[in-house]
Amino acid sequence: MCSVGDGFNMDISALETKLCKCEDCGNEFKGIGNKARCPSCHSANISDLKY
Ligand SMILES: [Zn+2]
Repeated sequence: MCSVGDGFNMDISALETKLCKCEDCGNEFKGIGNKARCPSCHSANISDLKY
């Protein structure tokens, strides 16, 4: 088990990311899935941004 960086990115690239905006602090971030949370204030009160 000496392999490094092999197959590590597969799970992330398989998921769709979307741009989200936190309604509490206004932070914009990339969320994954339907239950993204603000990385800044950890609020679940977010909205999707279309781009
Ligand atoms: Zn926030």
